[in-house]
Amino acid sequence: MSEQTNGFFTKEETDQIVDAIVAAEKRTSGEIRVHIEQTKVDDSSKRVVEVFEALKMHETKQRNGVLFYIGIKDHSFFIIGDKGINDLVGADFWDKTKDMVIDHFKNGAMKEGLVKGIEKVGEKLSVLYPYQGSEHDEDELSNEISGNHV
Ligand code: CA
Ligand code: CA
Repeated sequence: MSEQTNGFFTKEETDQIVDAIVAAEKRTSGEIRVHIEQTKVDDSSKRVVEVFEALKMHETKQRNGVLFYIGIKDHSFFIIGDKGINDLVGADFWDKTKDMVIDHFKNGAMKEGLVKGIEKVGEKLSVLYPYQGSEHDEDELSNEISGNHV
């Protein structure tokens, strides 16, 4: 089912990351995505916004999509949230979560860091945007990791 196009994590790691997204989204209407950019880009802070839009992450009903962006060649890492969630969490929530994930990255624990970050964001989303039940809550955005092709 899941075709691996990220070219970075192993199949097993990819599955664990996707499982973390699926588990998080069982507790919230929010949507979490992970994007891995493998090529060098001119400006990663611009690219992350471009990716956010290309993945249509600004089109969720409650504007509560959160993107984890990893730039392999640029050594960049961003977590960005859509308007809805951004209005509710302080900037320091993103900074703290980002720092926690980067600490893991520095120790070579990429997958663990990402999973922990997803759990932390999922927890926050579950408070701000509780799951609305299977009848109302749809999976608005794919849980698969996206790669350069977007
Ligand atoms: Ca959802
Ligand atoms: Ca989803």
